Amino acid sequence: MKCPVCGEDVDMFDICDNCGWQNDGPEEKETNLKGPNKMTLKEARKAYKSGIKVV
Ligand SMILES: [Zn+2]
Repeated sequence: MKCPVCGEDVDMFDICDNCGWQNDGPEEKETNLKGPNKMTLKEARKAYKSGIKVV
């Protein structure tokens, strides 16, 4: 699947090598904070664009 943050290829539930986002699968919601990431998907996309590390 594609990383929802940076668009690179990443395995489902794996941490993206490119941006550090951990993928929760295809059902991931933009504002969901329940996953392993400390950022929401929305925040992570913004951070990635700004050159901030995704956590
Ligand atoms: Zn990524």
